[in-house]
Amino acid sequence: MGLEDLSHNFLTGNIENLVKWARRNSVWPATFGLACCAIEMMSAGAGDYDLARFGMEVFRASPRQADLMIVAGRVSQKMAPVLRQVYDQMMEPKWVISMGVCASTGGMFNNYAIVQGVDQIVPVDVYAPGCPPGPETLMHAILTLHEKIRTGEITRRKGEGAGIVVEERPRIS
Ligand code: SF4
Repeated sequence: MGLEDLSHNFLTGNIENLVKWARRNSVWPATFGLACCAIEMMSAGAGDYDLARFGMEVFRASPRQADLMIVAGRVSQKMAPVLRQVYDQMMEPKWVISMGVCASTGGMFNNYAIVQGVDQIVPVDVYAPGCPPGPETLMHAILTLHEKIRTGEITRRKGEGAGIVVEERPRIS
């Protein structure tokens, strides 16, 4: 092979960026809907919004095959230990998106039965506001998480850094 052959078809990079690129483009969410927000989460995976574009159409029924938990809906006190157990069973590195005001703060359910913010149970990386957040807002949160993965440390520990609150995005349909 001559030197002129080496001038084509090469990409260079470092292993850290390669790992982050692979992680960012293959985030698999756990199937874990809690309330009405979950309907919007399902919409985001359907044809109109097409989460498959980001390599994350595969919602996993087993937490051991997932690295993203989307907390879609209010968290009851009874569900809190279950949610924590699912989180603990997920692989490292793993991330959490809190979807909707109920998951993030308890929302309208300011009472003894509902956890007043899922970050009391698991560390949250991105908060998506709204009641419910539409698929546009959830995808904004997902892309924010992708950026967090891209710019973060590959040796990151779970829950590292403060959660990012994204803006609510208008619905397009
Ligand atoms: Fe339901 Fe709204 Fe709460 Fe989501 S934020 S779980 S849509 S009440």
